[in-house]
Amino acid sequence: SSTARAQIGVTGLAVMGSNIARNFAKHGYTVALHNRSVAKTDALLAAHSGDGEFIRTETVTEFVAALEKPRRVLIMVKAGDATDAVIEELAAAMEPGDIIIDGGNALYTDTIRREAALRERGLNFVGAGISGGEEGALNGPSIMPGGPVESYESLGPLLESIAAQVDGTPCCTHIGPDGSGHFVKMVHNGIEYADMQLIGEAYHLFRAALDLDPKQIADIFTQWNSGDLESYLVEITAEVLGRVDAKTGKPLVDVIVDAAEQKGTGRWTVKSALDLGIPVTGIAEAVFARALSGSRAQRAAAKDLAAGELAAKPADIAQFTEDIRQALYASKVVAYAQGFDQIAAGSAEYGWDLKPGDMATIWRGGCIIRARFLNRIKEAYETDPALPSLILAPYFRSAIETAIDSWRRVVATATLLGIPVPAFASSLSYYDALRAQRLPAALTQAQRDFFGAHTYERVDAEGKYHTLWSEDR
Ligand code: NAP
Repeated sequence: SSTARAQIGVTGLAVMGSNIARNFAKHGYTVALHNRSVAKTDALLAAHSGDGEFIRTETVTEFVAALEKPRRVLIMVKAGDATDAVIEELAAAMEPGDIIIDGGNALYTDTIRREAALRERGLNFVGAGISGGEEGALNGPSIMPGGPVESYESLGPLLESIAAQVDGTPCCTHIGPDGSGHFVKMVHNGIEYADMQLIGEAYHLFRAALDLDPKQIADIFTQWNSGDLESYLVEITAEVLGRVDAKTGKPLVDVIVDAAEQKGTGRWTVKSALDLGIPVTGIAEAVFARALSGSRAQRAAAKDLAAGELAAKPADIAQFTEDIRQALYASKVVAYAQGFDQIAAGSAEYGWDLKPGDMATIWRGGCIIRARFLNRIKEAYETDPALPSLILAPYFRSAIETAIDSWRRVVATATLLGIPVPAFASSLSYYDALRAQRLPAALTQAQRDFFGAHTYERVDAEGKYHTLWSEDR
């Protein structure tokens, strides 16, 4: 009918949904608006009707009727049961060929299930990871849409036009079938956890090993942001550390309780990595570090535990500052290498045929982990799409060669000073294990054969062997 003129509908108008709806409107699309409680719809219209053309709707029936065909609806509600409820209501009102997009942080296995169920009913379901927070949603996020490739033909141009753009390339591309978009978004968030933890460890070393204050550290991060480490997270770290608390006049960071919370995507990444058998040690350390920080009663009870004899603090502040920068860069390479390994393993497990270079390309802008560094990852996969590890790409290999002595000094110094650096240390151990000629796994295999007759392979012959441990001597 003539009233069905919206190119896109957005349901779920909290911060993310309303900002994405505004982003679509600013790009000239007519946007149908819907929210469970009409108050949010009206609040959006009252504040931002000037952004473009919106259609106000109250019921799902009205909402669906406002959309041109094939209908495209973006769901931006609280991930979990709410998503299922909203999908069910929409699906009942929609027709075969219509497209339902879930832009929330859904667990990818939920997306696989929902896609299969909706496909049965002739509907296209697109699980789209969206990163960039509130600001990205409004001005250009990074978008990771999965689902049927046919639906991308109709949907892609809309999503690409509202996404962040880097060098004329949108930070949005079709990722792959069913749950792949949400899987990739999950790993993105895992990498984000690792990146934040590494920055946190660098900050902690500046304070505890070099006695710098937040303002001085803010200046260092500002400086770093004009080099190889240039990234959104380094930029906001400088801003956060420079902020003074209005109430006390102290650095704001010093009046914030040091117990980190989490919403679950980091934990999901690690659970999935455990199932896939991929060592994402950097991400896992980051998730565990948040958990440890949050164990406030245990920490309070443990505060008098012995530290042992501690070493002297580094005398050369400039040198140690550079060491920390190198350790941060090298550990970051490890975290990304591990995340990309997980993407490759997920792709193989689910038959998704994901292109790692695509992820590097669309993460260059819009999202929380956006960084100059991602250009290098993009180039690495362009040169060799079958790279066995990102660490082996010539650029990163030589960057780590440059960083390695600093990296070892940082981990050793932190240890001798009793400063926890779980992500720096485990990333270095991962690197050393990866390049080791022999690992103690031979002993593990012998032990397994000893107590469980699990057998082992020999270095000099084919086949499985078992030793009769109580007899052969
Ligand atoms: P949110 O707080 O996660 O969700 C609030 C919205 O969900 C409201 O519109 C609410 O409607 C609706 N809702 C909740 N339960 C519902 C139900 N049973 N039926 C229908 N609607 C229901 O909002 P958000 O922070 O804007 O996030 C939206 C989604 O984007 C989430 O999945 C989130 O994980 C994801 N995300 C968020 C960010 C971020 O930076 N915040 C970044 C990326 C992705 P009412 O107004 O009626 O309560």
